[in-house]
Amino acid sequence: PEVPPALVLRGVSRSYGGTTAVAGIDLTVPAGSFYGLVGPNGAGKTTTMSMIAGLLRPDRGEISVAGVDLAKDPRAAKALMGVLPDRLRTFDRLTGRQLLYYFGVLRGLKPDVVESRTADLARAFDLTDALGRVVSDYSAGMTKKIMLAAAMIHSPRLLVLDEPFEAVDPVSSANILEILSTYVSRGGTVLLSSHGMDLIERVCTRVAVIVAGQLLAEGTVEEVRGELTLEQRFVELS
Ligand code: ATP
Repeated sequence: PEVPPALVLRGVSRSYGGTTAVAGIDLTVPAGSFYGLVGPNGAGKTTTMSMIAGLLRPDRGEISVAGVDLAKDPRAAKALMGVLPDRLRTFDRLTGRQLLYYFGVLRGLKPDVVESRTADLARAFDLTDALGRVVSDYSAGMTKKIMLAAAMIHSPRLLVLDEPFEAVDPVSSANILEILSTYVSRGGTVLLSSHGMDLIERVCTRVAVIVAGQLLAEGTVEEVRGELTLEQRFVELS
């Protein structure tokens, strides 16, 4: 049987009052891809990512995750996704271990499964020694890593990551990149938004360029770049 795309958007739009943030986006993210969403400030990336994550309702259009319609069956669609929260709010008063436990239980995992996933993720993210510490004492890079570990606790099929490298030190960035690459090599799908064109160019297999709420280019990195660097192509489109 054919594998459905990890994610499909059809005619997805969203306005805030009089401002159109996303104006009819069609997007297909093939299963197993490392997909980058780029665009200038205010292009509509965060709005798009929030709608995919099920945190914001589109005004129009449909979103499906591995063939499951997000509006019709939000529970099932959300269970397939791991989402990076934009901030931790009061959760940062928990220790790293408590935080992962909370997210694991929220995802319906049994305590022993949460514990073994926590151990594996902490090892991969180099956070084993930090698990007993309160998250508000973590560095920016460690905080992003524990949030990503929380997003991955239930082994989702699709990771939806808005700016996963923002304010992250180079060592933590390399660590995150390695974990995401391993995740993709094992069949997972990553959709990330970023301002870092170099990074997208280095790691992503496919890329979409959003400008003023519209998708202006989509394809493999080579297709979108053409003869230019991704940065030059991006400037040309913006
Ligand atoms: P950035 O890269 O700066 O984060 P972005 O590509 O993520 O930008 P969005 O944050 O999705 O873009 O914003 C798209 C448009 O919608 C912008 O014009 C923005 O001002 C507007 N917008 C976003 N959130 C809201 C909101 N809650 N209320 C009103 N307007 C909003």
